Amino acid sequence: LFNQVQELKGNIRVMCRVRPVFNAATEGEIAKLSYPDIDKESKELEILGKEEKSSLGNITRKTHSFTFDRVFGPESQNQEVFEEISQLVQSALDGYNVCIFCYGQTGSGKTHTMSSADGMIPRATHQIYETATNLKEKGWTYTMEGSFVEVYNEEIHDLLGNSKDLDKKKHEIRHDDSKKQTFVTGLKTVSLDSPDTVETMLKQAASNRSVAATKSNERSSRSHSVFILKLIGRNSTTNETSEGTLNLVDLAGSERLKQSGAEGDRMKETQSINKSLSCLGDVIGALGQGKEGAHIPYRNSKLTYLLQYSLGGNSKTLMFVMASPLEAHLTETLTSLKFATKVHNT
Ligand code: ADP
Ligand code: MG
Repeated sequence: LFNQVQELKGNIRVMCRVRPVFNAATEGEIAKLSYPDIDKESKELEILGKEEKSSLGNITRKTHSFTFDRVFGPESQNQEVFEEISQLVQSALDGYNVCIFCYGQTGSGKTHTMSSADGMIPRATHQIYETATNLKEKGWTYTMEGSFVEVYNEEIHDLLGNSKDLDKKKHEIRHDDSKKQTFVTGLKTVSLDSPDTVETMLKQAASNRSVAATKSNERSSRSHSVFILKLIGRNSTTNETSEGTLNLVDLAGSERLKQSGAEGDRMKETQSINKSLSCLGDVIGALGQGKEGAHIPYRNSKLTYLLQYSLGGNSKTLMFVMASPLEAHLTETLTSLKFATKVHNT
């Protein structure tokens, strides 16, 4: 096709982004992180662990070293981050199914990176719109259909629908296995036929999210949001066709949620998040082993079932793991980075 996407080693790439310290006076102690050659394209991250007492009674601190496809330091901007994924985003126009995730504890910068007004969602959508417009010269016409869902407590909610229906309307995931396509029933879709529609769509999703947030103010960190852009292209001169999907996923906070003490609704939320995040890890792990005909546990969570055809087969996956620079978050940060390392090594 028009853009030969560089063949990536393996199907899954992982990049780390460390968020800045906003207020040194109030945020507490800063962890000892180092990213060599930060102005270069760094891939390494080192973190000094918590103090530990050795058997001889000496206090030691272990250095944890991580290697990813790219490490972005605290001064990185969304523009720079986007440059790293722009080829991948583009490949959805070539007919690939692309999934990009933000993983990390609450407050680590997932939404800033993915769903903010300057994040990957508007940047990716604008780029796709522009590229599709330029491809008209070469005979390509694309239909671009966006939808935006929230996965909360193993239920799908429509972030583009009427806010009154947010928790009432039932949406089911349906698969067409012969066409390898996924549909969600009753979802509002937006045809992205002008740059303005993107803005309007994001505002609608943000407004629905804030309605949801007033119902449970931690809901945004306890739900996954998935922006789905379906791209169907046809070339009138060559009769080629192309069907790709771009999924941009702002995951629920990865902080270890204790089962104990949680009751009722909170308990249900906790179980849903633990289940879906570990299921995502399992699916990626099983896919990474690449065994022909192996069982992939997509059905074990709504999120993986929704993304089934965008995670296996003809697809490309990238995960951003977000890291906090604060000493108080060190344990969670190390847990996230270890999860991401596993994903990276699959
Ligand atoms: P999460 O979605 O992981 O809970 P947020 O993206 O909401 O975290 O980030 C928490 C706060 O930090 C927000 O106010 C956000 O705007 C800010 N923030 C996060 N990352 C950055 C960054 N790289 N640069 C500037 N501000 C950031
Ligand atoms: Mg968030």
